[in-house]
Amino acid sequence: MATESFGFQAEISQLLDLIINTFYSNKEIFLRELISNASDALDKIRYASLTDPSVLDSERELVIRIVPDKENKILSIRDTGVGMTKADMVNNLGTIAKSGTKGFMEALSSGADISMIGQFGVGFYSAYLVAERVQVISKHNDDEQYIWESAAGGTFTITPDTINPPLGRGTEVRLYLKEDQLEYIEEKRIKDIVKKHSEFISYPIQLAVTKEVEKEVEDDEEEAKDDEEKETKVEEVEDEETKPKKTKKIKEKTVENEELNKTKPIWTRNPSDITSEEYGAFYKSLSNDWEDHLAVKHFSVEGQLEFKAILYVPKRAPFDLFETKKKRNNIKLYVRRVFIMDDCEDLIPEYLNFIKGIVDSEDLPLNISRETLQQNKILKVIRKNLVKKCLDLFTEIAEDKDNFSKFYEAFGKNIKLGVHEDAQNRSKLAEFLRFYSTKSTEEATSLKDYITRMPEVQKNIYYLTGESLSSVKDSPFLEVLKKKGFEVLLLVDPIDEYAITQLKEFDGHKLVCVSKEGLELEETDEEKKEREEEAKQFEDLCKAVKEALGDKVEKVVVSNRITDSPCVLVTGQFGWSSNMERIMKAQALRDSSMSSYMASKKTLELNPHNPVVKELKKKVAEDSADKSVRDLTYLLFETALLTSGFSLDDPTSFAKRIHRMIALGLDVEEDEESAPAPAAAEAAVEEVASASAMEEID
Ligand code: ADP
Ligand code: MG
Repeated sequence: MATESFGFQAEISQLLDLIINTFYSNKEIFLRELISNASDALDKIRYASLTDPSVLDSERELVIRIVPDKENKILSIRDTGVGMTKADMVNNLGTIAKSGTKGFMEALSSGADISMIGQFGVGFYSAYLVAERVQVISKHNDDEQYIWESAAGGTFTITPDTINPPLGRGTEVRLYLKEDQLEYIEEKRIKDIVKKHSEFISYPIQLAVTKEVEKEVEDDEEEAKDDEEKETKVEEVEDEETKPKKTKKIKEKTVENEELNKTKPIWTRNPSDITSEEYGAFYKSLSNDWEDHLAVKHFSVEGQLEFKAILYVPKRAPFDLFETKKKRNNIKLYVRRVFIMDDCEDLIPEYLNFIKGIVDSEDLPLNISRETLQQNKILKVIRKNLVKKCLDLFTEIAEDKDNFSKFYEAFGKNIKLGVHEDAQNRSKLAEFLRFYSTKSTEEATSLKDYITRMPEVQKNIYYLTGESLSSVKDSPFLEVLKKKGFEVLLLVDPIDEYAITQLKEFDGHKLVCVSKEGLELEETDEEKKEREEEAKQFEDLCKAVKEALGDKVEKVVVSNRITDSPCVLVTGQFGWSSNMERIMKAQALRDSSMSSYMASKKTLELNPHNPVVKELKKKVAEDSADKSVRDLTYLLFETALLTSGFSLDDPTSFAKRIHRMIALGLDVEEDEESAPAPAAAEAAVEEVASASAMEEID
């Protein structure tokens, strides 16, 4: 027979080694994984049958059957699902690695539990927790019946099946149990596991149970003795023998299919009759999660359109939440109790891709296809309702601080993405945002709470973006705002700036970035007057500095936002902030033509009260052509780049200037230095020293 051998893909091989060799006691989860695969396969054939009924044949019911064979120590799990072609077997069971293979091994090495295997999309291999050898016999409508077989060890084989009875359609997974795992052949054990992990599978799960029944037989036959040993399959025992004869009772073994999951779909039941354990169990069966959910909402919508739904918020984000290529199977769509699909993209917006649950519609047609679903009006209404209910659910979570902080840690990015994308629900979503601020450094604050702390004169909500809290908390941009008692939100997650720029305002207050041009702080008339005066006084200096820096800056003006630092660099209102420039530079595939105009506009703002700036002003007044003005200006500009959150284009020459200053501070003789300093820089060093700036520098 044509048996073909294949090597497992390297990572899968590694994973199998790990599964076989890791000491792990909770092995029972293998059954949950195999039943879940059977259920998926049944879903697939049922879905296909909605548009093409001929894929099913009428005699074969959609069912999962577990058959323990004590004699041969084989546990088999059989389904009448879609089955696998030979190519499916080669690809899905060994040669094509999923991203989860590596992800799961990494998770294991950092302390994750083997029971999480299903979440990583490699649940099938959990069969090797209990089996030393596994056979997968499968028949797909488009192919012949094949046997996949492997005892791990790096290889598997595929053989056309000429030995086993034909399956018709579907898959049988045969586990040749390890000697020490024979407990999984016991009926009681299997029943318990199914009850615990697979209660809510929507297809009947049958267990082939062997029963001993007493039967009366004629006594004169010797063969009856043999029958006693044999296992015979008898569906019904009929006793046609009516004529009086000498009989005796014998025990006969019969095999019956016992259904293990008889509960009706949980979402059709009355919420007040459902315990939290039941919700938890249903959540686990939906999500493959090993932990309970954080929150749940079970509701029905009636009226023009009718549907029932259960939505869950998990406790944690999955390891690949933002892996965009991966299709998520999060909300299962049913139509009148019939499963339709579990990857309907139009059911819920992307930013809510962490919500798990089911929707059962009364109105959608059963034979709806993926394509027509997209334009379906009913689905649009369902989607709108689901989003609204999700927001209600978040509001409920927010009532408990601890729960909400868990939630926000896991899904804060989703909320921000929602603020960015969902214009309709933007202001509602914004209520869930939390940020650290100059007044709330221990705990992130909501925008609502921020508003309650605003001094009366303050109109706007102020924020500063940056790489980390430590890099922004003492930023020069905060100087005047702190002095005025205005709180500033510190936005240090890269997505924050995207979200906030879309939000624009909250509760009637404009959101204003304090590192951008045109900052109009609420000023008194006096303050305004004073600033106008200063602008006049420093006009010449501003001009000289602009000349020195050339096109490195767009403008040089007198600042209203700093009280201590000599200067800061601000960006155009509609251009990138320094933080955005940093994020964009880090994106390898960005379009560089965009950065040239988004990042170009920088304005240098000078602090008229700073001694260095004052001294520089004097110098310019004495001799605007003084060479040292240019060099000093450069130093100021470069330090401002750093304190304003930009990076230096030419760090080496900046470092040289600083080193020379250090040398001067230490009284190091010029010729002791390794390299002779260029004349211009030398002058700069002298001038800085004479402007008594050394104190400032250390
Ligand atoms: P997942 O179920 O997350 O895709 P698994 O490792 O459990 O990952 O299964 C791998 C793949 O093998 C499945 O995606 C499916 O294509 C195939 N498969 C496994 N069991 C069956 C089955 N009983 N019937 C049909 N296909 C199956
Ligand atoms: Mg699976």
